[in-house]
Amino acid sequence: MVEHLQRYGVISSMKVAEVMETIDRALFVPDGALAYADSPMAIGYNATISAPHMHATCLQLLEQNLQPGMHALDVGSGTGYLTACFAIMVGPQGRAVGVEHIPELVASSIKNIEKSAAAPLLKEGSLSVHAGDGRQGWPECAPYDAIHVGAAAPEIPQALLDQLKPGGRMVIPVGNMFQDLKVVDKNMDGSISIRSETSVRYVPLTSRDAQLRGD
Ligand code: SAH
Repeated sequence: MVEHLQRYGVISSMKVAEVMETIDRALFVPDGALAYADSPMAIGYNATISAPHMHATCLQLLEQNLQPGMHALDVGSGTGYLTACFAIMVGPQGRAVGVEHIPELVASSIKNIEKSAAAPLLKEGSLSVHAGDGRQGWPECAPYDAIHVGAAAPEIPQALLDQLKPGGRMVIPVGNMFQDLKVVDKNMDGSISIRSETSVRYVPLTSRDAQLRGD
């Protein structure tokens, strides 16, 4: 899978190739699913695990902000795949936090991570996954060098901008039917620069009730 993504130019970073080889996607997809196919997959509760090329794209966009010792937040952490990748990249001196509003997914993501190469980091506490509304971020471990949002927001939540460190970067899909993956940089003076990376299709960042109703 990683070689395929390298061949097609999706992965150019060695670090990203390494971390995606270290965290085995097969441990994070439903049993019997085609783990290494390049497509998103349903994981229940109207949620999906993102396609490998989206995981790779987001890891590459955030690579400079996932160096050892840094703090990373994964909003809508779902299966926990990217949270685990973040934890490996920031290492035991860093902090990787997942926030997911479906408690059953929080529980299953923790089980997935326990089977993965990130298990020791979960045990030591540099990696954690919490049940909560990710639109509020996770203030306890703020500010963050890297924030990833795995669901599409109608607009960028202010709480997430506030929890971004100067010099920090957020990658977030923004829009409703038509969405852009936005790269949001907080400059050292606190000002914000935003650019669009690519068009995407994510499940909405919404309330738990709306998601379970499938609105
Ligand atoms: N990166 C994850 C993506 C999961 S899909 C993965 O690849 O496994 C998006 C996730 O966002 C879903 O699990 C959904 O339950 C969650 N989500 C949607 N709105 C949310 C909110 N307001 N707070 C927290 N999680 C949310």
